[in-house]
Amino acid sequence: MPIARILFTMPLPEPFDYTVPEGMDLVAGSCVAAPVGPYDRLGMVVDVLADQPGTNRKLKAVTAVYDVPPMSAAMREFLTWASRYTVTRPGTILAMALRAREALVPSPVELRYQLAGPPEGRLTPARAKVLEQAAALGRVSSSELAAAAGVSSGVIKGLVGMGALEEVEEVVDLPFAAPNPDLPGAVLTGEQASAAEELREGVRKGGFAAYLLDGVTGSGKTEVYFEAIAELLRSDPEAQILVLLPEIALTQAILARFDARFGAAPAPWHSGLNPKERRRTMREVLHGRARIVIGARSALFLPFRKLKLIIVDEEHDGSYKQEDGVTYHARDLAVMRAKLEEGAVVLASATPALETVVNAEAGRYIRLRLAARPGTARLPQIELIDLRRAPPEKGKWLSPLLALSLAETLAAGEQSLLFLNRRGYAPLVICKACGEKLKSPGTENWLTEHRYSGRLVCHLTGYSIAKPATCPKCGAADSLMGVGPGVERVAEEVRVLLPNARIEIFSSDTAQGGEATRGIVERMAASEIDVLIGTQIVAKGHNFPNLTLVGVVDADSGLKGGDLRAGERTYQLLSQVAGRAGRAERPGRAYVQTYTPDNPAMQALAANDRDGYLAIEREVRSELGLPPFGRLAAIVLSAPTADLADKAALEIAAAAPNSEGIELFGPAPAPITVLRGRHRRRFLVKSPRSVDLSAYMAAWVGRLKLPSQVRLAVDIDPYSFL
Ligand code: ADP
Repeated sequence: MPIARILFTMPLPEPFDYTVPEGMDLVAGSCVAAPVGPYDRLGMVVDVLADQPGTNRKLKAVTAVYDVPPMSAAMREFLTWASRYTVTRPGTILAMALRAREALVPSPVELRYQLAGPPEGRLTPARAKVLEQAAALGRVSSSELAAAAGVSSGVIKGLVGMGALEEVEEVVDLPFAAPNPDLPGAVLTGEQASAAEELREGVRKGGFAAYLLDGVTGSGKTEVYFEAIAELLRSDPEAQILVLLPEIALTQAILARFDARFGAAPAPWHSGLNPKERRRTMREVLHGRARIVIGARSALFLPFRKLKLIIVDEEHDGSYKQEDGVTYHARDLAVMRAKLEEGAVVLASATPALETVVNAEAGRYIRLRLAARPGTARLPQIELIDLRRAPPEKGKWLSPLLALSLAETLAAGEQSLLFLNRRGYAPLVICKACGEKLKSPGTENWLTEHRYSGRLVCHLTGYSIAKPATCPKCGAADSLMGVGPGVERVAEEVRVLLPNARIEIFSSDTAQGGEATRGIVERMAASEIDVLIGTQIVAKGHNFPNLTLVGVVDADSGLKGGDLRAGERTYQLLSQVAGRAGRAERPGRAYVQTYTPDNPAMQALAANDRDGYLAIEREVRSELGLPPFGRLAAIVLSAPTADLADKAALEIAAAAPNSEGIELFGPAPAPITVLRGRHRRRFLVKSPRSVDLSAYMAAWVGRLKLPSQVRLAVDIDPYSFL
């Protein structure tokens, strides 16, 4: 009997062997159920071996094989590679690929009812009413029909019995409509057309190729990559396409654009899907029927049959980095997946990451540039407001020039956007009587005041309390005072400044879920809002034709802290925000309030000199051997007590393998020292590019025997240093 080596969707160290029952046809990639302990578990065959007579191992048998196409060789290679690269057990990675296991079985069916032949004999009034409703509603479920007619479901059964209604089985999870590549797209400008042609050519030729689609905001990057998608749909009837987007809030507007261009909405994949939507997308992907998938970073792990094109839109975006659980950067994994699938990958951005630009300059990526906005739309002029020279009035946050510009913009019937990356009313609450700063219990994290909800919230841990009437330390009444601005406080200031303006706040507090987000975006696009005050949720993707003024309230907030990418991120975020202005016919302007106008990121913003800024970044990082000129990895450990954390940290430090070129920093208390009651310590590891840092980390972690209360996370190429 042949033997199947099975990897389970569980964090086990390795695959296990099972016998293959007679008549069961298994190949590498088959999805199967097999017993682990008392239960049948989901797994994937990694290998099928011929019988090995002589070895008298007692093996259990595979229980069943799912009737789905086996995972492709490229997919299997990708899983193996991702497991190795992220220093994660392969079964954990496989579980990410097979998250919706109901996708492995056919869609459930539901019984529906519709009119059949003419009724025989006399009809009771109840039966007549049902037939009337059935004629009006078409094919419906029994409960819908009974409710519409106001009868019990027994009446419907009776009508089926007499042949007046018939039961039909209907599939619940419908396939996605096929996209049509031949609907007309935009009439491309010269530079758009040549970028599109280069992509089309690459797609036609096939094989691995990576592109950087480097175009200013609003230059038509989406229109250009639509052409690559259309070409692939036309030239290969089996090829599948994945479009990754950073923020789910964005997908709503872009779904409509897909619909307009291809006559069909793509298959969605993100954390907001319900189980039914999830299994539907995954099943259609697995069978190769979903041609275009649009999703968040985790869509990269979907088991495509033939993935030939991956678009990573806004490739610089920080949300592509998964920080919890298995840590990975979706952009880096997308490039590897395209390579293994022998397909194309397009990284699109107006402010590409230094990593990406360096790859393009080294010739590893093909760079396509879009320098202009189509038509008469112009990039906004960006001006710095030096807050040291022109400070806001006491207790206010908008400098006189920005306040005046808001009034002018309102008077001209145009819209403004104020950007402040801080939710709530005030980022710090202090007692006027005793000076106590209110913190999340057991941590050093300040509580943020939220006026609308009347609560004090820790944005790091989620801890929240109703705002107390007295100081929890000294007991003084009415002494708690919010310090510093959040979006709610800026809104309060604008309300006084422009009493007749329609003002709204756009943050994850006001826009929870797609519906609410869509509402705000639609009202803004329809000019039903005069001043929108938002956190980074406003920075991305939206087109607001009547928006002509952007004000950045506190440009410096992102520069604080020891993050190696702080400057780069600030530049990217602020130029994205500024890029919201002046999208259509009207010219835009952007004011950036800063206390550090000499910072290279601020200077580059004002001069619209992205490449100049990248050159400075590149020099600094190359000098220090930081990514992409060197490699970084982190270990974060946490334990229920500080003592245990320190002890574990020492043990981990002692187990570090010796290796040439590796520099080890730590252990050190993490900047967020206590999170959800756990004490955290960090190590940072730095190596030259030539070192296989994943292998080093795996060897290190593999030596450890830590008590079970200690948790350990390895982060390859960390983006967060908290
Ligand atoms: P990006 O992705 O670079 O930010 P988009 O593709 O979203 O740019 O384009 C910005 C806006 O300009 C969109 O509303 C888009 O429909 C429009 N647009 C882009 N290219 C053209 C074109 N060639 N003709 C007409 N409209 C265009």
